[in-house]
Amino acid sequence: MGLLSLGTPLAWDDAKHYADHVRTHGITQFLNIWDRTKDRCGDELLWGDEIEYFVVSFDNEGKNARLSLRQTEILAKLTAITNDMASDRGESDSVPTFHPEYGRFMLESTPGSPYTGSLSDILSIEDDMRHRRRLARKYLKPDEIPYTLTSFPRLGVPGVFTDPYFDPSDAKSSHSLFLPEEITNPHARFPTLTANIRRRRGSKVSINLPLYIDSRTPRPFVDPTIPWQRNIYSEDPEAKRGAALVDHIYMDAMGFGMGCCCLQVTFQSCNVTEARRLYDALVPVAPLMLALTAASPLWRGYIADVDCRWDVISGCVDDRTEEERGLKPLKENRFRIPKSRYSSVSLYISDHWEHRQEYNDVEAPYDQAIYDRLQKHGIDSILARHISHLFIRDPIVIFSETIDQDDMNSNDHFENIQSTNWQTVRFKPPPVNSTIGWRVEFRSMEVQMTDFENAAFSIFVVLLSRAILAFNLNLYLPISKVDENMARAQKRNALHSQRFFFRKNVFPPGGPSRPESRCSSCSSSGASSPATSPVDGTPRKERKLRNCWPDVPRPPNGAPAKPVEDEYEELSLQDIMFGKCDAFPGLFSLVYTYLDSLEIEEEERVKLERYLELVKRRTDGTLKTAATWIREFVRSHPAYRSDSVVSQEINYDLLVAADEIERGVRQAPDFLPQGI
Ligand code: GLU
Ligand code: MG
Repeated sequence: MGLLSLGTPLAWDDAKHYADHVRTHGITQFLNIWDRTKDRCGDELLWGDEIEYFVVSFDNEGKNARLSLRQTEILAKLTAITNDMASDRGESDSVPTFHPEYGRFMLESTPGSPYTGSLSDILSIEDDMRHRRRLARKYLKPDEIPYTLTSFPRLGVPGVFTDPYFDPSDAKSSHSLFLPEEITNPHARFPTLTANIRRRRGSKVSINLPLYIDSRTPRPFVDPTIPWQRNIYSEDPEAKRGAALVDHIYMDAMGFGMGCCCLQVTFQSCNVTEARRLYDALVPVAPLMLALTAASPLWRGYIADVDCRWDVISGCVDDRTEEERGLKPLKENRFRIPKSRYSSVSLYISDHWEHRQEYNDVEAPYDQAIYDRLQKHGIDSILARHISHLFIRDPIVIFSETIDQDDMNSNDHFENIQSTNWQTVRFKPPPVNSTIGWRVEFRSMEVQMTDFENAAFSIFVVLLSRAILAFNLNLYLPISKVDENMARAQKRNALHSQRFFFRKNVFPPGGPSRPESRCSSCSSSGASSPATSPVDGTPRKERKLRNCWPDVPRPPNGAPAKPVEDEYEELSLQDIMFGKCDAFPGLFSLVYTYLDSLEIEEEERVKLERYLELVKRRTDGTLKTAATWIREFVRSHPAYRSDSVVSQEINYDLLVAADEIERGVRQAPDFLPQGI
């Protein structure tokens, strides 16, 4: 969620007058950063994960599992504890950090310091994640448990789903019929974000997820639990006339989406060029990892016919006006904007020759004046397009105390716009006054129930990122096909029921390149080992995952210009991951070939294999995704009436089971390997 500034937030009617000010200074701040860091080179691979949790409070007598709204106290306690640990050890680096998130029932944790590319660091991730969870757990009340489940199944049901209970009848920020004001992190940023999105949009947000229709679901399904009598806000009469669709689960507030938990992984790149290449390569990977990590089939007390959170969050922060959504001709607003601020990427950003402009085939409006300004400053047109596309958005939260900033020493206005563009992948310039380099954040994955799984998916993504760079893989697909993949990835059981667009030939001209050990992209090398063995000239193995990979040069006769439509096909995720005939060996095989270029000891390989095995078994279906496991748990519960409803009792038992699985006291052999 980014850093929280303190101050007095402006309501939308005041904030909007500063939108241009924030954009103009945001761009100045970006340009200052650019001038200082565009030639920065040789940064090592550092990377880290972010894990989001929700905290559940158990009423064991009443058999109710509720969201605990004690975030403020819990974070204060955890911060005090981690500060003490840091001062005891004298090294704050090894002590994890806990952060606030949108929901007053949420926590987020990151490792105390980033992991390096060393195998020992990579193999320590699970322990690091477990350590963080243990800490959180230890300082909660005895009846509270932190969960890494993506969506809380009964958020927004009638009755008691929070501890303490709050009446949802006066949700002044969101105007929700379902979620009380107190569900939101009380820091001024969050209620203001909620209210200003609604005010800017001109109505409440509105999300309709298709309902999973079971054998005894009433048809047509008109949700009897929507408390329309709470219509105290002006939007609701209108909402009642059409907001809640038949056969859907209707949700009407930011908290339904931003109350979800995910797993993100951020990489530091060698330099800006490599960061841009990695960003582009990860854009088509994002939907695949979403399908693989799908974990959220339950919403507002019902089973949905989708498995993922993505569209819910996208809808719940959609601040576009009717004009911007194309429902009215443009009059007050400047752009028709096809996507919400939380959405899949619309533009590739690398200036690599393999990036063909035809791939950017979805409408991605941009601010011409900002684009011109960036270009005038020497930013190439591709990056200028990206930044000026992000900057079509208005800043939603502005604090009166921080309107005027020192643009040399602050990136706050830049971050205001950047950090409220929540896309599948984020390109992150170095922060001011820090040692951090150019970074790329991978954001699509759903958080998994156990840290073993969270470690496995993080490790898979970091290894894949190295294989992509080491072999110069070209994964480009037209963005419209990536968007289609995002839609497919969220469908029920997408991993097995859907096919995904994927590139036919991922290798550079002339075939797969071999990982080499010398950085050719920086004058000062980030990798010190020689390319080949002085003895026999074979590529030398390394002990470490790293940055700074040599690039494939453009072929002398130019890039082959096949029609773009001939470059991709539709494959199952199994084919993408395990390969298809001889033409494409599959992502796993590429990861293994990459691992062969490392000097891995047998013991390390066995440990790594444990994680890769999980991802493989999820892919081939011998283990279920979290979404499938959760859906089946509900459907086979003795109290389930085959009516799509997740009752209080089922929810309670599900959360008990999820906790037992996490602690390893309950086996779920169709979901996790035995004995993890
Ligand atoms: N919780 C959000 C999600 O599930 C991400 C919020 C963030 O950017 O940290 O995608
Ligand atoms: Mg977060």
